[in-house]
Amino acid sequence: MKHVLVTGGIGYIGSHTVVSLVEQGFHPVVVDDLRNSSPTILTAVGKLSNDLFTHISVDICDYKALKRVLSPFSLDAVIHFAAYKSVRESFDIPLHYYQNNLTGLMNVLELCQTFKIRKFVFSSSCTVYGSPNERQVFENTPKQLPESPYGFTKWMGEQILADFHRNPTPFQTICLRYFNPIGAHPSGLIGELSVGIPNNLVPYITQTAAGIRKHLTIFGNNYPTPDGTCIRDFIHVCDVADAHVSALKHVGTKPLEAFNIGTGKGTSVLDLVQTFMAVSGLDVPYRYGERRSGDVAEIFANVEKSKHELGWEAQRTLEQALRDAWNWEQRLQQHD
Ligand code: UDP
Repeated sequence: MKHVLVTGGIGYIGSHTVVSLVEQGFHPVVVDDLRNSSPTILTAVGKLSNDLFTHISVDICDYKALKRVLSPFSLDAVIHFAAYKSVRESFDIPLHYYQNNLTGLMNVLELCQTFKIRKFVFSSSCTVYGSPNERQVFENTPKQLPESPYGFTKWMGEQILADFHRNPTPFQTICLRYFNPIGAHPSGLIGELSVGIPNNLVPYITQTAAGIRKHLTIFGNNYPTPDGTCIRDFIHVCDVADAHVSALKHVGTKPLEAFNIGTGKGTSVLDLVQTFMAVSGLDVPYRYGERRSGDVAEIFANVEKSKHELGWEAQRTLEQALRDAWNWEQRLQQHD
């Protein structure tokens, strides 16, 4: 049984990954102080994984505490999720983002050195491509400066890892560059928790369908795309979770590698809204508004490298993801 440290393992992608890891025979040691999650999600992860994981509540920015609580474990690898992730919020409180996301990463790397953990999987993002010149990005598409402090923490996270690898250390890293994870576990027990007004598209749609929001605003319909709305690569969160299991099995063949975690297919915001209405049978009132600053018109992944080298590709459809997102929203409402 392999012990894997999973920081932020009760968060949105982390919780789905913990379930996938247990299904594949790993024993996750989860570090999460639940600041952006809840005891209900923790209990649900327990239910979905027969409690075959260990949870420890500790702040990853507190290195001494982190080291103390993890010293009893023999850890083979780390999946590092714990980070703040709201683009909008990162403009308001940039220092919190740099402090948490970068100190957290450096502490976990320090821990790897101390405990001689050799394998590392980093939660990165397609935000590291900035505003790419190509619509479809490859892992070797040149990185560009991101638009937000959040994006910079991912960009700098990758840079810190690259610099860490300059030392002749037997350490292997995979950076998974997520596109747009959406949906929820098909059980409806875990999913994305939005605090306040959601920033992301799918939680906003499901809350509008549930009557919590009056209407969705689609940010811009004059982009150079077929229907004028932005194009993104939306991927089921369970597929993203599975990518981490594949990454853990693969890490070690090369010192430092990046993989795109998307479907390889672009979907417009308008198409997504219409697909949601079709699968849920509900009306989602929407209006067009101004463009949101920092949005790129179109970006989607090339996933050939992930397919051939990681042996992973997305299995679930957009319809499935939207059905699961709606199922999760309905369950959330029942429990409120
Ligand atoms: N979007 C929108 N209305 C919303 C939220 C998002 O039109 O209320 C659009 C946004 O402009 C972008 C796409 O949906 O083109 C995906 O945005 P999201 O924030 O979900 O993810 P991002 O691509 O920014 O990581």
